Amino acid sequence: MRYSQYFLPTLKETPADAEVISHQLMLRAGMIRKVAAGIYSYLPFGLRSVRKMEQIIREEMNRAGAIECLMPMANPAELWQESGRWEKYGKELLRFKDRKSADFCMGPTHEEVITDIVRNTVNSYRQLPLNLYQIQTKFRDEIRPRFGLMRGREFIMKDAYSFDLDDAGADLSYSKMYQAYRNIFNRCGLKYRSVEADSGAIGGSFSHEFMVLAESGEDAIVSCDSCEYAANVEKAELIYHELETPAATLELQQVDTPGQKTIEEVVEFLKLSPQQLVKTLIVQTSADEVLAVLLRGDRELNVIKLANLLDVDWVLMAEDDVVKQATGAPTGFAGPIGLKIRVIGDAEVQGMADFVVGGNAADVHFTGANQDRDFKVSQFADLRQAVAGDPCPRCENGKFESWRGIEVGHIFKLGVKYSEAMNATVLDAQGKAQPLVMGCYGIGAGRSVAAAIEQNHDENGMILPMPLAPFQVLVTMLNPKDDEVREAAETLYQQLLALNVEVLLDDRDERPGIKFKDADLIGIPLRVTVGARNLKEGNVELKARNSGTTSMVSLGDITPQLQQLISEALAFELGN
Ligand code: ATP
Ligand code: MG
Repeated sequence: MRYSQYFLPTLKETPADAEVISHQLMLRAGMIRKVAAGIYSYLPFGLRSVRKMEQIIREEMNRAGAIECLMPMANPAELWQESGRWEKYGKELLRFKDRKSADFCMGPTHEEVITDIVRNTVNSYRQLPLNLYQIQTKFRDEIRPRFGLMRGREFIMKDAYSFDLDDAGADLSYSKMYQAYRNIFNRCGLKYRSVEADSGAIGGSFSHEFMVLAESGEDAIVSCDSCEYAANVEKAELIYHELETPAATLELQQVDTPGQKTIEEVVEFLKLSPQQLVKTLIVQTSADEVLAVLLRGDRELNVIKLANLLDVDWVLMAEDDVVKQATGAPTGFAGPIGLKIRVIGDAEVQGMADFVVGGNAADVHFTGANQDRDFKVSQFADLRQAVAGDPCPRCENGKFESWRGIEVGHIFKLGVKYSEAMNATVLDAQGKAQPLVMGCYGIGAGRSVAAAIEQNHDENGMILPMPLAPFQVLVTMLNPKDDEVREAAETLYQQLLALNVEVLLDDRDERPGIKFKDADLIGIPLRVTVGARNLKEGNVELKARNSGTTSMVSLGDITPQLQQLISEALAFELGN
C-alpha cells in the first residue's frame, strides 16, 4: 500500500473527548471515527487490526473444533420472550418494531437464536458435541459508552455456543475453549490473566474472564501470591468464618455530628479510625425490597455478592427519598438501631463491638453501639469487596495482590438455563429426551485491539504487537524527489509485496520530520528508512518500533532480515 494513495487521516492534536490512551491513539492514528455515542466507523487502518484479531480468533476457534456461522443482528421478540430475557435484559436491549408492528431487538448476544437453531436441527446425542460460533456486530445500549472501541454500543464480538449431552461433555467443551482463549491471547502477544468471574445477565453456573492487564482497565482483579487463584473482585470470595462477637464495654451514646455525612467526615470529627465505624447502606433490590447492609467503615459493598445472596437480579443504592422513608433521616445518617427493615451484616461486622453507627436522624450518630444489645442483625455473609492483602480463599497461606484489567474475553458454563427455557432437547442413547447442556464464549474484537494499545504505547504513539499491527513493515522514502532514493525504496517495496509482506510505503511528498512523527504514531513494528546518505554506502536504516533499536542493513540483506524478524514475531506455541 502506498501512503500517498491510502486513507490514513492522522491527527496532530489529542481529541478532547478521548479519555484513555487507546481511544486517543485510535482516533489520532486514523483507525476509527465516531458516528454517535458508542458507535464508530472503522477506517481502513483500524479495520486491518480488527480483522487480524478476528482472524487469530477464527483460526484458534477452528483448531478447537468450533464451526463458524453467522446469525442476524435483528432478533424477533418471540425468541427472547421464550427465554424470559425480553423482560429481564433491561435497557441495554435495543428494541424496535418493524413495519408490521412486530417487536424485534438488536442482538446483544445470541443464546436465543442459536438455541432455536439447534433445537430445530439436532435430535440425537450422536450429533453432539457441537460448538457453533460467529464473528458479528452486537448492539448493547450501554448506559455509559466510552473509551472508543473499549465500551461501544455497537461492537464486533466473537460469540460461540457449545452443546453437549451431559455435564461432563459440557465441562470438556468449556476446557477446550479455555485453552483456545489462552492460545488466542498468547498469539496476540498480550499480558493477560484468566480469572474467575461472576456470570452476570448471561447466567449459568461458572465463568472465567480473560483480562488484559492495564492500569486504565475498568475491572479490578485479585490474585493469590502463592497459588493459582485469581478472580474479578466482583466475584473474589473471602473466607467466611463465623466470628465471635466481643462483649460490649461501652454505653450507647448519642453524639451530635452536624453536617458530618461521609465516613471520612465522621471519622475526622470524632477522632476515630474508619475501622471503629460500621456503615449502614440502604439498598433496593429488583424484588422491591429495601434493606440495610452493615459494613466496617473502610470496606466497600460488593453488590454482586449481595444480589447472589438475596437471589435477586440487581441491588442498587437507594435514592435519597427511599433512605429518608426507611430511616427517617437524610442520606449519610442511616444506622441499624431502631430500623424497621431487614438488616444484613458483612461477616467482619460480627466480630466487632463498641462501634459508631448513624443515628437515623439528621446530624446524629451513636458511639458505643453493640449488636444484639442495641440492634439485631438477621444474617451475616461475605458481602464486601476483596482488597490486596486479604487471605486467599483457596490456599492456606496466600495473600491477595490486586491488579487492574480490561476484560477482553468471557467464557460461561451455562448449563441448561436456555435449553430448559426454550425446550431444546436431544435423545440420549436410551432414547430419552435430555435438555442440552450449554456453554457460551465471547471475545470483543475491537476491545482486544484497544486493550493491546493500552498495554503497548509510548508518548509518541502506538506500539502494536506484530500479530495485530495493521502493517508489518513501513518503508519510508526520505526524499521522493531523489531518483536513487525513490528507485531503491520502490524496489524494496515491490520485493516485499512479492513475498506477501504487509508493507506500507511512505511515498508522500512531506518533510522527514512529519514522516517520522506519523511513523511513531501509527506504530508499524518494523520501519525501514531509505535516505540518500545511507544509500551511498548501499545501506538502509532498520528500526524496531518497540525497542527503538536501529541498525544499518545493506540493501541485499534487508528483505531476508525483515522476513526473519516478522516470522519470529508471529511465532507462537500452542497449549501453554
Ligand atoms: P462488561 O462487563 O465489560 O460489560 P460483559 O460481561 O457485558 O462485559 P460479555 O457479555 O461477556 O461482556 O461479552 C463478551 C465480550 O464482548 C467481552 O469480554 C468484551 O470483550 C466484549 N464486550 C462486551 N461489551 C462490550 C462493549 N460495550 N464494547 C466493546 N466490547 C464489549
Ligand atoms: Mg456488559
